[in-house]
Amino acid sequence: MKTRVENLYVHVPFCTHLCPYCDFPKERLAGNRMRDFLRGLQAEWAWANAEFSIHPRRIFFGGGTPTALSPSLLQELLEIAPWGQSEEWTVEANPDGFSLTKATLLREAGVTRLSLGVQAFRPADLAWLGRRHDRSAIASAVAVARQAAIPQLNLDLIYGLPDQGPSEWHSTLEEACAHRPDHLSAYVITPEAGTELIRRIEQGEWHPDPDTESVLFLLTQRILEAHGFSAYEISNFAKPGKECRHHQAIWSGEDYLGLGPGAVSTVSGRRWRNVRDTAQYARSAEIGPHPAHEEEEVCGPRERRAERILLGLRTSAGLPEEALAGREDCLSELVEKGWGRRWEGKFLLTPRGRLRADAVAAMLL
Ligand code: SF4
Repeated sequence: MKTRVENLYVHVPFCTHLCPYCDFPKERLAGNRMRDFLRGLQAEWAWANAEFSIHPRRIFFGGGTPTALSPSLLQELLEIAPWGQSEEWTVEANPDGFSLTKATLLREAGVTRLSLGVQAFRPADLAWLGRRHDRSAIASAVAVARQAAIPQLNLDLIYGLPDQGPSEWHSTLEEACAHRPDHLSAYVITPEAGTELIRRIEQGEWHPDPDTESVLFLLTQRILEAHGFSAYEISNFAKPGKECRHHQAIWSGEDYLGLGPGAVSTVSGRRWRNVRDTAQYARSAEIGPHPAHEEEEVCGPRERRAERILLGLRTSAGLPEEALAGREDCLSELVEKGWGRRWEGKFLLTPRGRLRADAVAAMLL
């Protein structure tokens, strides 16, 4: 019997420009590569459909920037498979270049959530992040999403930037809330190996400031809760009922199928990552049976348990205590330190514990 898959991720690896902190698989827009990508995706979808029983309930198109494609290529992408039958379909977009034509294409195809890579509002923050948009582009992207009647809107933000203290970050959060999003994601800037950001750190141009990051993290929880958002995960905040179902499914350990260059899948205890190079991805997908994998591993019970603890601790739902059986001493110590609390058979992190989620997970493993 074929394995049933309900969560799909599609990686669209194109951006109009490359940001200095980004380590996602991506490349600059180029016409021939986009054609390669769409051909490869078509072939991979045909393979996946024959291999698994796919009933997509939650779909996430990420990148890269899916909406960087021209309207005609975007339409081709949206028509490769019957994605529109899902309950939730998120597409990531950047404010620059997001037009009413593209928003309407998304809505007509059945997209239910737009996730807008706003990241910041202050010109200095946007320049440091290498982003090309400004406040007016953000306002216009939000307006066209609303005009096209895309039901839900998420705004992505980044904090921990140079010269960004509590008052600057507070203003950024207020400005984001003024756009009345249903969901906000606020991530601390994270230096990733091989990025331009690491070079800046090595050359002494900037360095992260963990103390300020902690202050901004706690401020985020306070401000967004005051605006009616609930922190349902360390970096994710939703108005009631507007949580991202796709993220929740992944965090709770459900299988997911990732399509596209560099996409990761986890199905029936097997995990693999497609090759990142778009041309190689497309060639190997067309030759078959599936795109070449650059990583493959079996996720045994130990790995799955570790992952469940790592991801579950980050959520407001916490972890059922039976998932932490045998760690009684450690749980008591965490409660004593004020990093965790026990409630109705679950172990949850306090805001102070959330600041140290990775360290707490390491203690519990
Ligand atoms: S737009 Fe997003 S995916 Fe593209 S380079 Fe910037 S951060 Fe990375």
